[in-house]
Amino acid sequence: TAAAHDAACIFCKIIKGEIPSFKLIETPLTYSFLDIQPIAQGHVLIIPKYHGPRLHNIPDEYLSDILPVVKKLTKVLQLDDNDKLIGDGYNVLQNNGSIAHQVVEHVHFHLIPKKTEDTGLI
Ligand code: 5GP
Ligand code: ZN
Repeated sequence: TAAAHDAACIFCKIIKGEIPSFKLIETPLTYSFLDIQPIAQGHVLIIPKYHGPRLHNIPDEYLSDILPVVKKLTKVLQLDDNDKLIGDGYNVLQNNGSIAHQVVEHVHFHLIPKKTEDTGLI
């Protein structure tokens, strides 16, 4: 099946390299990169290479590829110079709809390192 694209979508443009990004891990069905406005050091976005606005719009094959990438990123990205996790924990967050604080209308998973001193929900 041909992947869906939206020529006007900023995350589709990032996948195609039309907008620069700090790429981390790319797989045939996923792309991950640093968030441009991180809420914590090491804030990463993981996206399917399929344009759909909500989680339920994305074919299972794309979704199946995402969590293994999230897992890898917790290891390869979130280590400091001493091999210690940048965070004391981390949140994985996926917003659907403006009421749920979604801004970019291409499904994305946030991976956000969490330090002991960060007491908020995210
Ligand atoms: P949302 O609120 O939709 O769940 O999160 C969208 C995220 O995308 C935000 O954290 C925002 O900083 C990030 N973002 C928006 N535009 C860009 C961009 O052009 N490049 C990168 N790297 N991140 C972006
Ligand atoms: Zn898109």
